[in-house]
Amino acid sequence: MSPWEENIARLLRGIRLHSIKQKILVFALVATLIPSLATTWVSYVQNKRSLTQKVTEQLHNSSGQAAREIDLWLKERFIDVRVFSSSYVVSESLERLRVAPLESVDGREALSSLSDYLNSVREPFADYEKLVVLDPAGGVITTSGTAGAEDLPPEWADMMLMEHSAQSGVYWDQALETRVMWIAVPIKAADDRGLGTLTAKLNFQAIDEVLARFTRGEASEVLVITQRGNPILSSRSPSSELRETRLPARTVEALFDTTATTVNYTDPRGEHVVGAATLVPTLDWVVAAQIPSDVAFAQVARLRNVATGLLLALLLGVGLLAYTLGLIIVRPLARLTQGASRVAAGDLDVDVPVVGGGEVRYLTEVFNDMVARLKQGREDLAASNATLALQNEKLERLSITDGLTMLYNRRHIMEILTQEARRSRRQGYPLSVLMIDVDSFKLFNDTHGHLAGDEALKQVSSMLLESTRDVDFVARYGGEEFLVMLRDTEIDGAVHVAERIRSCVEEKPINVGGTEAHVTVSIGAAALPKKSDDPEVVIGNADAAMYQAKRSGRNRVVRDGDVKPQLRKEA
Ligand code: GH3
Ligand code: MG
Ligand code: MG
Repeated sequence: MSPWEENIARLLRGIRLHSIKQKILVFALVATLIPSLATTWVSYVQNKRSLTQKVTEQLHNSSGQAAREIDLWLKERFIDVRVFSSSYVVSESLERLRVAPLESVDGREALSSLSDYLNSVREPFADYEKLVVLDPAGGVITTSGTAGAEDLPPEWADMMLMEHSAQSGVYWDQALETRVMWIAVPIKAADDRGLGTLTAKLNFQAIDEVLARFTRGEASEVLVITQRGNPILSSRSPSSELRETRLPARTVEALFDTTATTVNYTDPRGEHVVGAATLVPTLDWVVAAQIPSDVAFAQVARLRNVATGLLLALLLGVGLLAYTLGLIIVRPLARLTQGASRVAAGDLDVDVPVVGGGEVRYLTEVFNDMVARLKQGREDLAASNATLALQNEKLERLSITDGLTMLYNRRHIMEILTQEARRSRRQGYPLSVLMIDVDSFKLFNDTHGHLAGDEALKQVSSMLLESTRDVDFVARYGGEEFLVMLRDTEIDGAVHVAERIRSCVEEKPINVGGTEAHVTVSIGAAALPKKSDDPEVVIGNADAAMYQAKRSGRNRVVRDGDVKPQLRKEA
């Protein structure tokens, strides 16, 4: 492993990314997250900027147009009042009143025509609450309607000093229950002499309509604010509600700052708003168009939510996709791992399904091939082991068998007899042996030939097997001598069996080269002595009995007990 590979592996271990599936998942999420976050962020910022710009523009349009209309409205009112004041009726009446006392007929006539005139011009205009004509000293000459002029503003005397025109501040009129203001223009004679002043009390009905026109949407509002921070008119609330309210100095300052594009502030109702303000040139007012901040940026908030939702959906989708991909990649590997562990545990019946393509497919094929070879090898080994076992068994059988007669050989019968003698003594069972020798066999060989002798030995062997039980052991002891071991058999039983063998051999002809011949056997029978488990003793006794039989004339059975004492071998 190169150093950088080690570093990466250490890093992955550090953040616990062990499995391929986790690695793919994290990679896909990171690869999705970075570009989509960047794109979303850029589009969010751009959208927010353009939305802010749009909101700002709309607010500026509303406040600008409303301010212009208010300005225009006031200018028109001044023009109206100037037109009223320059009427011939007004100047002529005032001239007449100057010379004729009020109580005179002429004076009363002049006053009445002036009053009629005022009423007639006020009537068609809803903007005028009252028109008042003052003399050059400021005394009230007459008014429209019937009421007096006691509602003139406190600074009206100052207004009188104005050369061309004057305007008061805005007042709350108790009687009318609305806000009002006064404007005044001089009344002049033809020779430019000052005859008095025409003042008019204005209501703001028309401006209310203007404000309503520039209110866009339910949430937006256009406010008219004085320099002292009094909101005097609103497109949403009646003036009475605004009477007691006042904006903080900082907000007023910000609104009157003509360089600001938008101002964030708390409106008279305590709502957080964003607004744009425009000065009304002829008045010391600003017209502020405002909209609650949350409404203004609802679209931005929606955009943010949509972007977040999209991002989450994207992450979920990509996550699922990466997870599925991980599964597709990892499943064959998991199958391979499982297969390998089964093979390691010794189970070779493994065949991993080959799916897909590429390296994993190749690996799977190689693995399956390897397992198949291993299995074949194991089967071959098992087969050769079986052959070996068979051959071993054969060898073992050969090693205990006599090649000519296929009876047990002397070595094996000695082993068996040793074991059986011990067992017999331990468990108290009787055990007997017969020692059998073919009579005058040398002569037989000489007469019939050696091959016929071999054949005779084989046939005698068959007769011995026929005459004994399966539990007995028949062996070729040497040359033409046989040994029979009889389990659980007392000496009487042994003699009985020996007699059966002897008569069988005597009677059964032996077939040699197409002619029949006869042989006889001499048998010595002996039982295992009670206190001995030495096979040599019982064999010696049987041997002695057999010699006794030979000496007694052959073709007979002699039991151990009948042997002459000098021939017996004692335990
Ligand atoms: P006895 O009655 O006293 O036993 O006389 P015998 O001739 O049988 O005794 P002896 O011991 O003199 O001779 C045994 C003969 O058995 C000698 C030998 O040629 C023969 N013999 C021993 N083993 C074999 C064999 O495997 N095949 C053949 N054909 N003959 C054998
Ligand atoms: Mg012999
Ligand atoms: Mg013999």
